[in-house]
Amino acid sequence: MAKIMAVNAGSSSLKFQLLEMPEEKVITSGIVERIGLKDSNFMIKLNGEKQEETVDIADHAVAVRMLLDKLINLGIIQSFDEIEGVGHRIVHGASVLTKSCIINEKEIALLESIIDLGPLHLGPNLTGIKAFKKVLPNIKHIGIFDTAFHQTMPEEAFMYAVPYDWYERFQVRKYGFHGTSHQYVSERVASLMGKKPIEVNVIVCHIGNGASICAVKQGKSVDTTMGFTPLEGIPMGTRSGNIDPAIIEYMMEKKGKSAKEITNILNKQSGYIGVSGISSDSRDLVRESEAGNHRAKLAIEIQAKRIADYIASYYVYMGGADAIVFTAGIGENAPSTRQNIIERIRVLGAEIDLKKNEVHGKEQLISTPESKIKVYVIPTNEEVMIARDTYQLCHL
Ligand code: ADP
Repeated sequence: MAKIMAVNAGSSSLKFQLLEMPEEKVITSGIVERIGLKDSNFMIKLNGEKQEETVDIADHAVAVRMLLDKLINLGIIQSFDEIEGVGHRIVHGASVLTKSCIINEKEIALLESIIDLGPLHLGPNLTGIKAFKKVLPNIKHIGIFDTAFHQTMPEEAFMYAVPYDWYERFQVRKYGFHGTSHQYVSERVASLMGKKPIEVNVIVCHIGNGASICAVKQGKSVDTTMGFTPLEGIPMGTRSGNIDPAIIEYMMEKKGKSAKEITNILNKQSGYIGVSGISSDSRDLVRESEAGNHRAKLAIEIQAKRIADYIASYYVYMGGADAIVFTAGIGENAPSTRQNIIERIRVLGAEIDLKKNEVHGKEQLISTPESKIKVYVIPTNEEVMIARDTYQLCHL
């Protein structure tokens, strides 16, 4: 038995889960928010009960120290030595860190060398790793990369049709994200179907605030909708997804803004919030749409159309699909969104049972027995993937 910590560090937050491995049992989990701001929030969940505290937490190192002290004070561990390894979710490994690995000085230097590829996320990820390594210097720290699962994409899927030296000199290519989730869900669906991952073709729809679709052919990612950055693909809570790139220069001139400012709008003020003008949260949009708000409905329909387009495209690209899976906040919890998408791909022979589709946040087959493609809801579990790789690399 071993205790493994799975960590996801954001710019001002730190999510954690402590698991007993290899049993994959969650011992405790929680989140520290507003790190570096006044009135930071520390929440830890133990035996289903939440404990919350508001204190000023200056930086990630302080948050880590507080979290570990809390584990001792609550009697969850007797000493830090009980934690065998820490697995860090890292958003980007580019083409240099292509699978889960132990993070030492060399890997930190590599991550620093690619920071331009994802400054918003990689910076905080590195801060989290350094903070944990400082407090727990004698155990293994493992990096698990959101991009790793997509490294199997063929060249024709990951290359953009731009001057080749953009790729050679500046690493411009599709990387894809949410890989840990796509891998977990595609493996899980194979198992629910009583098959090995290599025996099935799956289309995974990870639809949360961030959203991406992945074509998983015989256990391998062969295409995905997010690209060089998470901005590409389908519209999301605040991201536009694909647009004509010429719009950027046009709007820079119209609004007198820089490329950076326009890109920021495409990342933070587009998608659901941009079209509806109401909210980036799907629950608000579903409610407003049902109450007759045209733009709320439009925001939902634009996204559903694009998702259906990608499903059809991946169906063709893979030469057919055995299953479509919905996961993440919206995919797991929004029956109307799932129904909308599946109705749009009826021509492929997919059909859902409206009663079974009422499910929220638990594993369920929602297609009818006649459906030519099985449709599932499967809650994602990135933490367990992080813990599995960490446990495995700690035991090499
Ligand atoms: P991320 O991890 O990308 O921040 P999540 O996977 O947590 O996002 O998904 C957040 C989205 O899930 C929000 O749009 C939220 O409205 C939606 N969501 C969560 N619960 C429900 C629900 N019960 N019904 C509809 N949407 C939901």
